[in-house]
Amino acid sequence: MTHAKLNVELIEYTQNPLSVIYSAARQCYSSEFAGEIFKNKTDPDKQERFVEKIIGLGHLSPLEHVKFTFAIEGVSRALTHQLVRHRIASYSQQSQRYVKENNFKYIVPPSIEKDEKLKKEFKDIMSKIQKAYNKILEATSSQDARFVLPQAAETKIVVTMNARELLHFFEERCCTRAQWEIRKLAYEMLLICKKELSVVFSMTGPKCLKRGYCPEGKFSCGLAPSKEKALGK
Ligand SMILES: Cc1cc2nc3c(=O)[nH]c(=O)nc-3n(C[C@H](O)[C@H](O)[C@H](O)COP(=O)(O)OP(=O)(O)OC[C@H]3O[C@@H](n4cnc5c(N)ncnc54)[C@H](O)[C@@H]3O)c2cc1C
Repeated sequence: MTHAKLNVELIEYTQNPLSVIYSAARQCYSSEFAGEIFKNKTDPDKQERFVEKIIGLGHLSPLEHVKFTFAIEGVSRALTHQLVRHRIASYSQQSQRYVKENNFKYIVPPSIEKDEKLKKEFKDIMSKIQKAYNKILEATSSQDARFVLPQAAETKIVVTMNARELLHFFEERCCTRAQWEIRKLAYEMLLICKKELSVVFSMTGPKCLKRGYCPEGKFSCGLAPSKEKALGK
């Protein structure tokens, strides 16, 4: 049993994403065919200005034509349970039925990592779980033995989201109110998206960035003003 570390890789994404979004958006306002608009290779600066404009207007459906696929490892089952709540996405996750966990990796939360006494207790519990798992596996099957595995157990998952859903995901999960592990993942994904398609993702982050205020009330981290304060009330 060993610690596992977060690793995020962009394994595939829509080619010519800017032109795809531009052509789809222009189709809404033009008598020209999107297929021709796409082939015409409009100047990228012009495409960017147009895409910025539609995003500003909240006309976001053209972003749905662009998809990003991430391979993710070194995350806990606690994280993926939250991740898969995002419904406008596709997932393929390592199975605990088909993959035997007789040497499972796990994630140690930073608050436990920095406390030597807690860390030892945590590791001892993981060892006990491993022993129990192996015993049950021997007597039954991996689909039953997995019932004793912890939420800390490491998992691997492939996720595909379109650019519009990614904007929403970042708004929710880059917020300091989000749980630390999924927030870390969200920021890793955001950095990758910014590099590949900055016109869409450069101004993205927690929802307070877009709104200009924090809707979390007494749970606010204080980085953004409350709605009342932002409205001068
Ligand atoms: C800080 C934080 C704390 C949370 N705490 C809890 C908790 O304690 N318990 C809990 O159960 N969950 C919790 N969640 C999960 C949360 O309720 C959502 O399930 C999760 O964030 C997925 O987001 P979503 O539903 O907005 O969007 P997605 O599923 O990603 O969908 C994107 C958007 O599509 C639209 N949409 C999708 N499906 C539907 C639908 N069926 N009907 C109408 N509109 C739809 C919505 O506008 C939605 O915002 C928490 C999330 C966060 C960020």
